[in-house]
Amino acid sequence: MSDVVSLLSQIEDTGRDTRGPGYQRPGFSDTERDLREWFLAEAARRGLDTEIDANGITWAWATPQGANAVVTGSHLDSVPGGGEFDGPLGVASALAAFDVLKDSGALEQSTRPFGLAVFPEEEGSRFGVACLGSRLLTGAIDADRALGLKDAAGDTFADVARGYGLDPDRIGRDQSRLAGIGSFIELHVEQGIGLAGTDQAVAIGSSIIGHGRWHFAFSGQGNHAGTTPMSHRADPVVAASRVIGDIPTLAAATDATAVATVGRTLIHPGGTNVIASSMSFWLDIRHPDDAVVKQVLEAISHRAQDHGSDSGVEVTISQESYSPTTHFTADLNSRLTSVLPDAPLLPSGAGHDAGILAPHVPSAMLYVRNPTGVSHAPEEACEVDDQRAGVDALVKVLARELGIENALADDRTGGPTTGGAQ
Ligand SMILES: [Zn+2]
Repeated sequence: MSDVVSLLSQIEDTGRDTRGPGYQRPGFSDTERDLREWFLAEAARRGLDTEIDANGITWAWATPQGANAVVTGSHLDSVPGGGEFDGPLGVASALAAFDVLKDSGALEQSTRPFGLAVFPEEEGSRFGVACLGSRLLTGAIDADRALGLKDAAGDTFADVARGYGLDPDRIGRDQSRLAGIGSFIELHVEQGIGLAGTDQAVAIGSSIIGHGRWHFAFSGQGNHAGTTPMSHRADPVVAASRVIGDIPTLAAATDATAVATVGRTLIHPGGTNVIASSMSFWLDIRHPDDAVVKQVLEAISHRAQDHGSDSGVEVTISQESYSPTTHFTADLNSRLTSVLPDAPLLPSGAGHDAGILAPHVPSAMLYVRNPTGVSHAPEEACEVDDQRAGVDALVKVLARELGIENALADDRTGGPTTGGAQ
């Protein structure tokens, strides 16, 4: 059996960003494929039955698939310049938890199937749609729309999926697979400051707060930077930048806990001595109350139209994605609380595959303390003691779901169960 820390060390050099700190592990890339191969090898070494399904999700089954399965897992891709733990911590912890359950001898006594899962393109950093694998599995994204998505190089998801060994005709909602899952648990590094500075290493997810992405396009008149008087310009960069500058005030005026972010802009054509003809930015808004998200969007949209007309620039706004607030399954969460009575309940501002699955199968999340509170950046952190505490918590939750908590406890106290102790 391998410890979670040593499992993570096996992939610490895979997908390292060559231009700076952090990782580059885009969805459906050679790097994600290398990471998948690592997971498949680790699963095979443990005697797990592995398969890659029609949507590119990797499954590893400890016991034959059947009804009411208990599944745990996460993802292996990263955002550009991402940290070490976002995704891989959940996958390595799943393998480590399997080892504890197997080595205790308790797993053999479960009547429920047990499996591990790795979801592709969770970050949406390649095709712009987060949790693409779980959205395809659940039908949260239409298969035809997904197949037409393009990456920055102009390659469609259909072509990339084909290159990844998938059949585009088979991609899409998989009802029989969903129906076979009775509990899905995702362990994840915490991506905020909910646990930092507290005496708790692990929290239970209460909800994933609603979030959406909108594209704001400003089009004006491209022109010469030297010959066009300031009074004769229709400069989209000026209009868009004014809007971006107003966003913190507009969000705060709507609700003190609403968050709104522009992390990506595009200026066309992008010449130093050229007044741009167009500028786009992408706006991300999140809040637990879907009505607040709508209000923030309306405030920013109005401001965009105002600044646009002041500058003679046309503004068009389109929604790229929207996910309402997801509450994790109440009875599953009460079972998590019964085995982790000290763990606080935390809402998450970040999206996760467990949140996509939650409306379809009972789903829950465990968050492991991140002392920096930083995520989607190289400073994301997780102490080794906390990594191990995360695995301990996951083992307790899985044992409870598998109905083997007594067998596991017997093993840990040197009781009657057969099988090697850890
Ligand atoms: Zn993640």
